[in-house]
Amino acid sequence: MIESIRSTYILPKDMLAYEKGTVLVDVPLREARDMECNRCGDCCDSSGENVKLDKKHSVPLFVWGGNLPEDRYKSRFGKEMVIPLVRGDGGLVEAEEFEIQSNGEPHRAFRCTFLERDEEGLSSCGIYDQPSPERRPLNCGSFPVFGQEVDDAIIDHGYFIPPTGALPRCTWYGMRIVGPWKETKNWNMLFENQRRIW
Ligand code: SF4
Ligand code: SF4
Repeated sequence: MIESIRSTYILPKDMLAYEKGTVLVDVPLREARDMECNRCGDCCDSSGENVKLDKKHSVPLFVWGGNLPEDRYKSRFGKEMVIPLVRGDGGLVEAEEFEIQSNGEPHRAFRCTFLERDEEGLSSCGIYDQPSPERRPLNCGSFPVFGQEVDDAIIDHGYFIPPTGALPRCTWYGMRIVGPWKETKNWNMLFENQRRIW
């Protein structure tokens, strides 16, 4: 939960599944990296009932966005890790291939093969901490505020907006990550969490 007395930023246009005018709360990077994933699992399954949908096309606004190999990690895991989800008669259904959008690009709505849920509905990653060569993709552990691109954006222009706009249940929803950054000696030793835990 974010405290109420903080600076805020009003989005000047629709972006990252947020609507124009959404108020984002500024959170320093160190604090953002100390927050805990609540294990909602929405970032591993676009079909989750809480994942925002595109109003016009009824497709999920959260999709696999990182570098996705053509075989969807089959050569690494012996089976496809990323299962495409496409529009069916009764909603999203699993498919062999992603739906192709009008711009010719695949719409990467997905469900991950390795997502597990316990009896209370809490999610976990079935390959968390699995060593190489069957290690989980790096961007799984870096989502949504643990990657180098966050540091780079803050150094470059002072902030980073995590791609969580379609995930209202996410711990890191509704925030903009800001500096100060790297003004402290041994800055990288300040963080306990350099990746998402679970
Ligand atoms: S490998 Fe784990 S963290 Fe990555 S999408 Fe699958 S369940 Fe989520
Ligand atoms: S990173 Fe966010 S969306 Fe993904 S499981 Fe954790 S809290 Fe949920």
